[in-house]
Amino acid sequence: MIVEMRRGASQVEVDQVVGKAEAYGFSVQLNMGTDKTIIAILGSNTGQVATENFAVLEGVEMVTRIMRPFKLASREFKEENSKVSAGDVEIGGERIVVMAGPCAVESKEQLTEAAWAAKEAGASMLRGGCFKPRTSPFSFQGLGESGLKILGEVGEEVGLPVVTEVMDAQQVSIVSEYAAVLQIGARNMQNFTLLNEVGKATKPVMLKRGLSSTVTEWLTAADYILSHGNDQVFLCERGIRTFEDSTRFTFDVGALPVIRRFSHLPVVADPSHAAGHFLLVPDIAKAAVAAGADGLIIEIHPDPKVALCDGLQSLTPLNFTKLMEELKTIAKAVGRYI
Ligand code: PEP
Ligand code: MN
Repeated sequence: MIVEMRRGASQVEVDQVVGKAEAYGFSVQLNMGTDKTIIAILGSNTGQVATENFAVLEGVEMVTRIMRPFKLASREFKEENSKVSAGDVEIGGERIVVMAGPCAVESKEQLTEAAWAAKEAGASMLRGGCFKPRTSPFSFQGLGESGLKILGEVGEEVGLPVVTEVMDAQQVSIVSEYAAVLQIGARNMQNFTLLNEVGKATKPVMLKRGLSSTVTEWLTAADYILSHGNDQVFLCERGIRTFEDSTRFTFDVGALPVIRRFSHLPVVADPSHAAGHFLLVPDIAKAAVAAGADGLIIEIHPDPKVALCDGLQSLTPLNFTKLMEELKTIAKAVGRYI
């Protein structure tokens, strides 16, 4: 249930609504907008309480039920677009934020080269996996904690905040020491223990879409993080499983306007994992920006042919630089900049 307070409603009036909700055993989340407060009343049986029970309270403008399963991620709860801050980078503003770097941190030399290439081409964040969710246990699993140290050092040297994946609830605190953004991978989109843990973290979270998840399931997963008070959440469309196998995953370009319509959360796109091939990455990246993505996360590697992970879909520094130039025109056409 969403309780919209009147403009200028007093704190006492807000407290009365909160108190009543809590007396029913519900939990509440407040969205203190610039000119009015919105209160989400949450619980599995809010449906059993009449909206009138809240509508009669002083200072209440309107009470509505959100019929969709996601509540805190919805536009009903928050009308204006949310912005996420990672270091000095803002995601969800006018600027299209580009995060670039290798699939996996392999060595200090490899990451340093990739990071300078990313920075010089205009990227504003550095990506690099240290804990890798590989399909086979015999594939390179990432450097783990020693990779995090490299990532932290290189990010600092080059001056780019870093985004890296956290695979397990027990890793949240150590990854938080190095990362500006915690990445939840596609395979963990519905790892609820992990979502609860990053919801309690003090770092922003990038929630990637599950391989076979609907937009509704994805936004409802975001609610897990938001429900713990971490409102620094953004989404990442990275392609989904369909019958089509000419790309690694099918990039769901339509999900971008759908998210913008139903949710206030920023959404970025990962054309690399969707494409699976470096030749296809630039056009998917351009389509994403044209369709309203707030940013891109792109895999680049100084020498893709020796990459330990995802070399085929990684752009060389040269190809990345070329793409960044081309994206400027697309961004401008949709009222944004890179
Ligand atoms: C990644 O970003 O390297 C990754 C593993 O992505 P996804 O979770 O989308 O497969
Ligand atoms: Mn990868």
